[in-house]
Amino acid sequence: MNNPACPQCDHVFSWSVALKQILGPGRRGNAIWGAVCPSCSANLKVPNSRVMLIVASAIFFGSQSSTVLVLSDVTLWQFYAAKIFLILGFYAIATFIFLKLELVK
Ligand SMILES: [Zn+2]
Repeated sequence: MNNPACPQCDHVFSWSVALKQILGPGRRGNAIWGAVCPSCSANLKVPNSRVMLIVASAIFFGSQSSTVLVLSDVTLWQFYAAKIFLILGFYAIATFIFLKLELVK
């Protein structure tokens, strides 16, 4: 697992700081998935291609793996709850794998 780093000063974000900035309500920076480097105050964002990759792989793997549930004896409500849980789980995994920061131009 590689931590996201600032492309300007090579400051390495810890995951808790990076995710709090990118997803948290008190986020700074002006991009949707944005962050501000605590070391050099560079305005950073997650590249759009990475956001697409994270969302797409979460939905893809989440839906794929949830089809396995059809084989087991679950109610419809349990099926959808499990499906959402799986998508969120893969969302988190994809974020850790694909997250990268670049400078906002
Ligand atoms: Zn920096």
